[in-house]
Amino acid sequence: MTDLQKDGKKPQLLEDATGSTHIIEIKNMNKSFGDLQVLSNITFYIRNNEFLTLLGPSGCGKTTTLRILAGFETADNGIVNFDGHDLLRVPAHKRQLNTVFQRYALFPHLNVFDNVAFSLRLKKVSKKEIRTRVEEALETVGLSGYGNRWVDQISGGQMQRVAIARAIINRPRVLLLDEPLGALDLKMRKEMQIELKEMQRELGITFVYVTHDQEEALTMSDTIIVMKDGVIQQIGTPTDIYNEPKNAYVADFIGESNIIPGTMTADYEVLFAGKTFTCVDTLFPEAGAEALPVDVVIRPEDIYVKDEGSAHINGTVYSIVFKGVHYEMVVDGDDGFTWMIHDVDPVKVGQRIGMTFDPDDIHIMRKSVFSPDHTKKPSVQDALLQELDV
Ligand code: ATP
Repeated sequence: MTDLQKDGKKPQLLEDATGSTHIIEIKNMNKSFGDLQVLSNITFYIRNNEFLTLLGPSGCGKTTTLRILAGFETADNGIVNFDGHDLLRVPAHKRQLNTVFQRYALFPHLNVFDNVAFSLRLKKVSKKEIRTRVEEALETVGLSGYGNRWVDQISGGQMQRVAIARAIINRPRVLLLDEPLGALDLKMRKEMQIELKEMQRELGITFVYVTHDQEEALTMSDTIIVMKDGVIQQIGTPTDIYNEPKNAYVADFIGESNIIPGTMTADYEVLFAGKTFTCVDTLFPEAGAEALPVDVVIRPEDIYVKDEGSAHINGTVYSIVFKGVHYEMVVDGDDGFTWMIHDVDPVKVGQRIGMTFDPDDIHIMRKSVFSPDHTKKPSVQDALLQELDV
């Protein structure tokens, strides 16, 4: 931990049953713009020092949630507590939070040092302390020695680091980051993802990160909140969200998935694709002793290609596309479903194959409004991709 964390006051943190402390708690928060309800009954907490990501497609309400925390927007109702105190009554400039935006808006007429020092100068901090704190912040973001550069003499990635240095110079308890890597190219974005995570650990402060990029969320977060149309769909660790999606929307949004209709017939027993399979789930409580219709998720990378007849399900390869590390194959299953498989070894279009998977790769979800229409065949786009046969 660095000096940047010292804010003089001993934090008053809320502890839950598991012993973890919550720096922020949001309960039943709603927000509408005119007739459009953009946040519905938002309830979650943020643990102290965690990296929490709000993930969802454009317009799902993640930025509005962040803006309410920052004090740039008001909630219609609900509770937002910070260290157990009502945050909504605290003016934006007095909140112990700072925001980093996608458009980092550095001052072009100032050099890197003066951009980072800007808020300290406003607060009339002594010259000596400004120098120490700016150098420390620049070191944290990997820009030691860049103080004299003008902002048009540095790269996009370096500008984003300056924006982060400018935000952490105020020693916030929580850093809010709104798609901060959105303007960077893919390679730079991936490097910055790792660095941001390291920075968060080193600083020992809480990061609340907004993105629509599921891979980014899975790479960096301790906790992910998946949102859709202003409603929280699931809260969990990256592993939970990926391996145990709560509904078909989350399964589909977080990576590729095969979602097949099934029926839980007993604990550890699920019927789909015309066969009964052993799985690792028990019946949902609402089923009682009855069989219960469910959605079954199997990730493409969890399906193994075997010889026809020696596997769970047989089918004909419909299309194949090289994705860099693996091949993505669409298989027309004899069970009437279309399956997607990821494998490092390609199979020819038109070839007959068998497909197997392990019990712990069969994920069971409750039926929901997001349950897919299973009557669909592969799209025209898939058919066109067939042209790329290898
Ligand atoms: P994006 O990734 O595109 O920023 P988001 O998930 O962060 O999307 P928000 O920016 O929170 O979504 O917006 C949620 C909804 O609220 C959108 O439909 C948006 O158009 C609307 N909205 C946001 N701010 C305002 C505003 N000031 N006035 C009216 N509508 C707004």
